[in-house]
Amino acid sequence: MNCKECGASVAELDTRHLLGCCGLTLQEYALRHALPLDLLLSPDRLGAGIADAELPRMPAAGPNEAAGAVLAGLQLAGRVRKAGSQCHISGEVAWLDLLFWDMAQLAPYGFRFHQAYQYAADAHRVVASNQLAALCGNLSSPCLSAGCLASERRLKYATYLAHAGELHAGYLFMPFDSADEADDTAEYFSRELLAATCRLDAGTPLLRTQTRADAARLLDGLRQELEAMPGVWQRFHPRTPAVAVSKEVVFDSAHFLTDHPAKCSNLHGGRYVLHVTVSDTIDPVTGCVLDYGYLKRVVNKRVVECFDHHTLNYANPELAWRSTTELLSVFIWEQLIDFLPGLSRLTLYETPQSWCQYTGPDLETWQQRGGNPLLTRFTDPALGRSPWRQSLYENPREKERVHYD
Ligand SMILES: [Zn+2]
Repeated sequence: MNCKECGASVAELDTRHLLGCCGLTLQEYALRHALPLDLLLSPDRLGAGIADAELPRMPAAGPNEAAGAVLAGLQLAGRVRKAGSQCHISGEVAWLDLLFWDMAQLAPYGFRFHQAYQYAADAHRVVASNQLAALCGNLSSPCLSAGCLASERRLKYATYLAHAGELHAGYLFMPFDSADEADDTAEYFSRELLAATCRLDAGTPLLRTQTRADAARLLDGLRQELEAMPGVWQRFHPRTPAVAVSKEVVFDSAHFLTDHPAKCSNLHGGRYVLHVTVSDTIDPVTGCVLDYGYLKRVVNKRVVECFDHHTLNYANPELAWRSTTELLSVFIWEQLIDFLPGLSRLTLYETPQSWCQYTGPDLETWQQRGGNPLLTRFTDPALGRSPWRQSLYENPREKERVHYD
């Protein structure tokens, strides 16, 4: 076949030829020319990894501290996976330069770039993965010594942020494999960078900066390190288009309206349909505003699990009085805004013919003002303390309480 980049006739195109002629990997070449990888690869090239013999065995002298800091950051980001005798670090095709930056920093560990191809049965096509591979034996020395310098700790956390951090509506979201790692990181950000974070329970440990200002302080505090990494500073300061994305969920619930002068005061049930809309800029690495899977998980956990096959009035005290679509929307907004700071609209259908739309306060306003008083009318301690009720206190129980308290 002929290489579409340099025109040369080659028996089979591979990354080795392409890196030499145009600097692309085979996967990037396939994307540039809109060719399925299946056409470019013979079956014997599928599934093959890189052999141990092709990987360098590094001397025991060990890596320098900066390489250890980058490796520790990648481990914190969950990017380092053990595969038999090798350790692999994977990277996105839209951001290969960051993977090559990783490789340059990790030179003392002897990592090599490798593009692996597999027939993915579920996807019915050949898929590629980009990874760095090194012999596990090269990584035996501790990544980051206990008494390491402040500059190495900064590099570790900047590397973590670059590979795992995501910006949503100006707030930084940071996932972790373990709660301890999340706590240690939160403590470092708070102490060294004066950036407050909070833990969100989204199924896996997740940190979010408390405010937009905390996110800006965190990024500015690590600016020197982040700017040295290809595309990282730009990713956290996006100039990409803003788009609204929505997810639809349904829940089957019963409810009634207290003191309502019509049929809705009777217990009745139905299928509610909820559209959750988030507006934000497109992430240049993922091509998405946010992961629809995350959106679905959060809405299921925070809303659907509370409401589905329940009587709304008894599911939450906020809705005991009147579980109207209007109050439901205000309540649902408060369940989601911490997790979805780009939340821009809720549309809630009680029936196909009746629905309401709601845009509540943004996260910053909600943090300042707290929950909407409409939802706490009957849990408010001030209820029952109005001067109009004082004459009603004149009963034995109240006298007793005042006397003996
Ligand atoms: Zn070529």
